Amino acid sequence: AAEEGFDLEEVEGAIEAAGHGPLPVLAVVGRPNVGKSTLVNRIIGRREAVVEDKPGVTRDRVTYEAEWSGRRFKVVDTGGWEQDVLGIDASVAAQAEYAIEAADAVVFVVDATVGATDTDEAVVKLLRRAGKPVVLAANKVDGPSGEADAATLWSLGLGEPFPVSALHGRGTGDLLDEVLKALPDAPAQTFGAAPGGPRRIALIGRPNVGKSSLLNKVAGEERVVVNELAGTTRDPVDELVELGGVSWKFVDTAGIRRRVHLQEGADYYASLRTAAAVEKAEVAVVLIDASESISVQDQRIITMAVEAGRAMVIAYNKWDTLDEERRYYLEREIETELGQISWAPRVNVSARTGRHMEKLVPAVETALAGWETRVPTGRLNAFLGELVSAHPHPIRGGKQPRILFGTQAGSKPPRFVLFASGFLEHGYRRFVERRLREEFGFEGTPIHISVRVRE
Ligand code: GDP
Ligand code: GDP
Repeated sequence: AAEEGFDLEEVEGAIEAAGHGPLPVLAVVGRPNVGKSTLVNRIIGRREAVVEDKPGVTRDRVTYEAEWSGRRFKVVDTGGWEQDVLGIDASVAAQAEYAIEAADAVVFVVDATVGATDTDEAVVKLLRRAGKPVVLAANKVDGPSGEADAATLWSLGLGEPFPVSALHGRGTGDLLDEVLKALPDAPAQTFGAAPGGPRRIALIGRPNVGKSSLLNKVAGEERVVVNELAGTTRDPVDELVELGGVSWKFVDTAGIRRRVHLQEGADYYASLRTAAAVEKAEVAVVLIDASESISVQDQRIITMAVEAGRAMVIAYNKWDTLDEERRYYLEREIETELGQISWAPRVNVSARTGRHMEKLVPAVETALAGWETRVPTGRLNAFLGELVSAHPHPIRGGKQPRILFGTQAGSKPPRFVLFASGFLEHGYRRFVERRLREEFGFEGTPIHISVRVRE
């Protein structure tokens, strides 16, 4: 490293920064209007509104990355609440439940100017049951006079209430210090699971693509559809299914089975549920209804899985309904709409007839293998050396930026750091990624490449 003009500390720092694996997850829950979204904005350090002006606006972004005192984590915002859909208590319970499931720690926000309400108490019950670490935020304490209101929230039995003003930032530093104490270094959900235990699969896709049918099919039995409101009962959330002699854990299947049919707000719940399932899983099987055009919603769901850095398989379902014409157009759509995830293994299935069900597990195994791939530094640099001499970066301003060396900083998904003598253009980075994939596989996994440029 030294002879290439990087000092060792810089190299180690870059590798450590890039190699962080999946981040722990913080959920922010509470009643409507207590200031959850305002607090999330504060935590992620962004002023522009996550808070929506219009009620009922579909929000599909529910997780954000944040950093405090040099530690990074994800925040799940549950502020996209819809009052009319389920009624207050059920709505709050449902959103809190999904978010808590996916979280490693929870910030429970209460409006200190109002005090604890029955709805707050209902969330406290959920929190107790979940057993996750909780930090209690007594919000809307905009000045010292509100501190007494905050103190009354000791009555919730969740320990010390932290008086904050999400709006003005008062007290949020202390709150975040406490959050960091509560958050594990790595997400327990995904990576604290017993090594050698069952792999975790999230079955995701927009409503009616056939998730529940597929789950029933692979589980080999028809199941009773649970018809209760989300949050009112607690059926087992994850399900163990034996496939090909191996146990797999399908996460968040209660969400799939519950089949709450909502009119408005359904998209928001679907997004929250998808985000929760993805956080808990190692691999996402994204179902797409092959009989219909690939939609923006399908794309958003795929983006969620990719951004979360999970392994991914695409299952085109309802294959039994396709005629030749639809098949032709589907292939064209896949090319134009889903070109950016051409690395994901693909299966064409029918949950109804059972077509190609046996291909699902091998595809999932392929994706997990790609996700876990580690390329030894020697092999990587031999490859980079050849690549750079055969395909040098175009000369810019009389200079030719060169990749000097690289290393894989982490896996699940694979993360690389390349050290270069100058800025690498976007097109060249894409080229490097393509060649890396050709050389080492990485089927079914997103890969991250960061580039450090020598000063
Ligand atoms: P959510 O429904 O829980 O996500 O709540 P929002 O973040 O949308 O906030 C609801 C309302 O409370 C908005 O009008 C916010 O401006 C206001 N609000 C949020 N935090 C504070 C605070 O710390 N102090 C005051 N005075 N108002 C706040
Ligand atoms: P979910 O909302 O994603 O769980 O979707 P469901 O499993 O409830 O399926 C929605 C509808 O699509 C139901 O009427 C299913 O019978 C139907 N369906 C699911 N898979 C298939 C399939 O492979 N072929 C056909 N023809 N219909 C299917």
